[in-house]
Amino acid sequence: MSDPEAVEQELDADVLIIGAGPAGLYGAYYAGFRGLSVAIMDSLPEAGGQVAALYPEKLIYDVAGFPTIKGQALIDNLVEQAAPFKPSYFLGHRAEDLVHDEDGEAITVTSHKGDRVRCRAVVITGGIGTFTPRPLPDAEEFEGRGLSYFVPKLEALAGLDVLIVGGGDSAFDWAHNLEDLAKSITLIHRRDRFRAHEHTVQQVLDSSVDVRTFTEVARILGDADGIKAVEVFDNRSDQRETIDVQAVVAALGFTADLGPLKRWGLEQHKRAVVVDTTMRTNLPRVFAAGDITDYDGKVKLISVGFGEAATAVNNAATVIDPDAKLFPGHSSNL
Ligand SMILES: Cc1cc2nc3c(=O)[nH]c(=O)nc-3n(C[C@H](O)[C@H](O)[C@H](O)COP(=O)(O)OP(=O)(O)OC[C@H]3O[C@@H](n4cnc5c(N)ncnc54)[C@H](O)[C@@H]3O)c2cc1C
Repeated sequence: MSDPEAVEQELDADVLIIGAGPAGLYGAYYAGFRGLSVAIMDSLPEAGGQVAALYPEKLIYDVAGFPTIKGQALIDNLVEQAAPFKPSYFLGHRAEDLVHDEDGEAITVTSHKGDRVRCRAVVITGGIGTFTPRPLPDAEEFEGRGLSYFVPKLEALAGLDVLIVGGGDSAFDWAHNLEDLAKSITLIHRRDRFRAHEHTVQQVLDSSVDVRTFTEVARILGDADGIKAVEVFDNRSDQRETIDVQAVVAALGFTADLGPLKRWGLEQHKRAVVVDTTMRTNLPRVFAAGDITDYDGKVKLISVGFGEAATAVNNAATVIDPDAKLFPGHSSNL
């Protein structure tokens, strides 16, 4: 992913949430509901954590109140739910350093691009760590100009010739869901075995999508306006071919790394952050929620993360203002 010049933005907020997955987004709603100003930082360029990155088009059956909901629709709803409170989003920013003020009253978190958020409490909702898409080699210049690692809105590719690279769930889900929207879809994979759900693979193989195995990208051809074509090669014969496309979706998977969090002095257990029943970590003013937390009996699910986010933010509110009540009141009374 591209790493633009440091912009050195500084912001003061009551709460900083690190991680814009479902737990973090719901935490942003709760902070706003409590009248706290809130910022959200995520290393990915889009909100949604694992849900948006790994299974945006899959149906989820176990979110309370939704008999079924598509991953991306759940994320869109969470963003909409938090929106009235105007959270400040720092997307594409990996939280790198976390430093307490000398008097212990505030914390400054600095991103890898140099942006700083000074806040009164931090809620870490970092899931399984910093998510980074596996990049398509030598293609950086086309990122954001036809090359993407996510398809948050399928409509953005309507009417285009699209090349999808990859053999996992995301590649096949996008191929399947774009079939009616895109002008044409070619899916290439470097092997002849796929890691996607069998049913979806069959649906794609039976559709108009041109699926090519043992095929890789040699180079992207384009100019300042964007992608014009892609040269692909058969990795057994090295035979080359140029396919006219205007968009490339690289679904090559993600790497996850707790990375910077490991240096902050947080008590950890099994690659997760230890919290108590208030979602407090061992560091003052630092709470955690969602997949990243560990305690006896922990269950890693979206619904559990929602509850933990509410607990974390409401407890953080009492640390920010010791006169504040823990119970936020009922939203239905608004
Ligand atoms: C294929 C698949 C299907 C699933 N299906 C279901 C299901 O049906 N039901 C269910 O309940 N759960 C399901 N899950 C699990 C569910 O997705 C997770 O429990 C949920 O996403 C956890 O949410 P979270 O907000 O805690 O963390 P995540 O969704 O992991 O989000 C964490 C975010 O934090 C960011 N981050 C981490 N470290 C930093 C840092 N230092 N700086 C900035 N950002 C950082 C990451 O980039 C990421 O975006 C599924 C998971 C997978 C992989």
